[in-house]
Amino acid sequence: MRLLRTIVQTLFLAGVVAVLVRGMMGLTTSTCETYCPFAGLVALYPLLRFNTYTCAMNEFHVALFVSLVALTLVTKKSFCSWVCPLGTVQEWIGKASREVFGRYVRPPVAVDRILLNLKYVVLVLVLGLTWTVWQGDLGFRAYDPFYIIFTGFRGHETLSFSIFIGIGVLVAAFFVPMVFCRYLCPLSAVMDPMSRAGFLRLRRNPGRCTDCGICDEACPQGIPVATADEVTARDCTNCLECVEVCPEKGALELTLFGK
Ligand code: SF4
Ligand code: SF4
Repeated sequence: MRLLRTIVQTLFLAGVVAVLVRGMMGLTTSTCETYCPFAGLVALYPLLRFNTYTCAMNEFHVALFVSLVALTLVTKKSFCSWVCPLGTVQEWIGKASREVFGRYVRPPVAVDRILLNLKYVVLVLVLGLTWTVWQGDLGFRAYDPFYIIFTGFRGHETLSFSIFIGIGVLVAAFFVPMVFCRYLCPLSAVMDPMSRAGFLRLRRNPGRCTDCGICDEACPQGIPVATADEVTARDCTNCLECVEVCPEKGALELTLFGK
């Protein structure tokens, strides 16, 4: 399963890199944001209120967002660990860090719990500013590491400080696994309540589990799998890393509604 996930991740990452390279060669005017479901959420207000799309948003973005909602209701936040190129890059940086330090470097639990709520503030700010001050324009591009990085730090609204944001996220991902996804991504905040209700859940079979704790260490999201009967955490991305490393066959199983 890990190989399959790596292949899927690589394909989506290669897709946005191809768009970037084609853009640099003058072969397309598309950028990575053409394929971002968050734009579909941003598009909803002007669409419902004024029956129009603003800025670069269109029906495709709304379709992407609706697809994301359906995917999350079924598979939790699998979009983050299977599809999102920024998630992939952060995950690979985190794994490199794990090789260097011998384990994931994580902030203290109390700090982590506070920081986890930052993304809701970011979500409210981004939507509020877009629908008021920026009048439907995607004014957050200059602050968005997905846009900054996958336009090669040269998107048309990339400012000098944007480059520091892009590089800062990549560097921070080395010291805190999935730092942007966990603490700052507004799309992650939107998915959280749906992820809790996601059908596909991991279940731990206490009869087979030896409480070795290997799964806890392997989880990029820092979820305490080894003490859960069922992983209902909003942050679970169904990356299945915990299942991959578990030495006891059948101790962790992917189930429908934990059954
Ligand atoms: S890795 Fe497997 S056996 Fe070890 S604590 Fe986790 S579920 Fe139990
Ligand atoms: S609990 Fe398992 S599947 Fe969920 S994020 Fe952690 S390692 Fe991935």
